[in-house]
Amino acid sequence: MAQPQLAKGIVVDSVERLAPTAMLNDQWNVVKELVAANIGSNHAKSWIEPLELLGLDGMVLVLGSPNTFAKDWIENHYLESLTKAWKQVNMVIQDVKIVISETQVTVANTNTVVSPIKVIESFDSIEKDESGRYTGAPLDNRFTFENFVVGKPNELAYAAALRVAESAKPQFNPLFLYGGVGLGKTHLMHAIAWKIRQCHPNRKVIYLSAEKFMYQFVRALRYKDMVAFKDQFRAVDVLMIDDVQFISGKDTTQEEFFHTFNALVDKNHQVIVSADKSPSDLENMEERLKSRLGWGLVADIHPTTYELRLGILQAKAAALNTIVPKEVLEFLAFKITSNIRELEGALNRILAHSSLVGRSISLDTTQEVLRDLLRSNDQRLTVEEIQRKVAEYFNIKMSDMVSNRRMQNIARPRQVAMYIAKQLTSKSLPEIGRKFGGRDHTTILHAVRKVQELCAEDFDFANDVEILKRSLQT
Ligand code: ADP
Ligand code: MG
Repeated sequence: MAQPQLAKGIVVDSVERLAPTAMLNDQWNVVKELVAANIGSNHAKSWIEPLELLGLDGMVLVLGSPNTFAKDWIENHYLESLTKAWKQVNMVIQDVKIVISETQVTVANTNTVVSPIKVIESFDSIEKDESGRYTGAPLDNRFTFENFVVGKPNELAYAAALRVAESAKPQFNPLFLYGGVGLGKTHLMHAIAWKIRQCHPNRKVIYLSAEKFMYQFVRALRYKDMVAFKDQFRAVDVLMIDDVQFISGKDTTQEEFFHTFNALVDKNHQVIVSADKSPSDLENMEERLKSRLGWGLVADIHPTTYELRLGILQAKAAALNTIVPKEVLEFLAFKITSNIRELEGALNRILAHSSLVGRSISLDTTQEVLRDLLRSNDQRLTVEEIQRKVAEYFNIKMSDMVSNRRMQNIARPRQVAMYIAKQLTSKSLPEIGRKFGGRDHTTILHAVRKVQELCAEDFDFANDVEILKRSLQT
């Protein structure tokens, strides 16, 4: 029987006529596992799991994606992996294609209600801007999409944020942005708010921190103003809550937030949330809230890379209209790895210093001015370097760092190396354990305690450890 031909682009009609067989369904389960093994279970859960198996069109396997954003992202990032896995489990398949699933499209269309602008006067603690629009908290005018430098660690969060800001109706709800401190979550939230004002000036946006949300909630309770509080938040088109981890353990605030959240999502109004952890890793949060937070798109911002840091420095220097030597920017990008806030702070300090003393910026002055900051950021040291140095110092073989020999003249230096690795690198105990011939993290912990104990008892030993540490730090 001839299969319906799929035209290029989205043809929901013909997709409907495809029907996956039981065999294809089984194969899809295998494919999902193969892909998850390849791209990691977190990514698989966000992107592959929501895909719907639509069927086989000739030699083309067709999958349905809930929205165009997901479709684009999967095509750019996971299609290769998907295709490979499908070809592996089904010899007939030559290609994999992603279309928008019709069911999802309809849901999005029928629910779109853009509520009229309503000015609520009674709630004065929510800030308004000059033109009377509610903002919740003032927006920083430096935090725009234009000023956001995109690199591999933040490309997903950026793309998702931009998409949410530009679309008239939610494509995924909520958008959950998460990442460590100083990596750009607040910047992206503000950028979304600015962009919405530009693209959809009539939509009512409230941006505020979870802390402020709680504060307002408590205040409403106290002044018996709950009706106004609820109306206020439920009447917005877009609600943005920054640092939602703040309400962990705060049960009644969580409860209220949960209801507000549901009320908005049910009306198909956009909710955007940021946090320092993924929804499932949030501690002291109600299960139902965690699971609800993970329903839409969860986008993580990864720690920075050298390229991203350099890009950001170049952009900031250019924006400030100052010339900073290339070697200085490269040095900073190499050394200051903690987060972008510190990176910016470092650049600002150098600029301030140079204008203060009236000297141009050089590598020497940079190192001088930033000495304390550089010390705390020095995480470039590898466990191998530590092992080599310690082995040399105590005159044992490098291979004994990973061996099982237990003589004290070998075991002790090994413990010293473990201890220093814990002190001077940001590696976790299990990671350090792996570098020492696959030892358990408890062994490392034991070594750390032992060396601390010995240092307290034995001055010479403490001295040895100190010398080693210092020589590794410079
Ligand atoms: P977070 O909210 O994740 O703790 P912020 O959004 O406050 O971090 O970012 C910290 C600083 O770093 C801000 O000044 C922000 O403008 C800057 N920043 C973060 N990411 C970027 C980026 N990709 N491009 C430019 N500046 C950035
Ligand atoms: Mg922040």
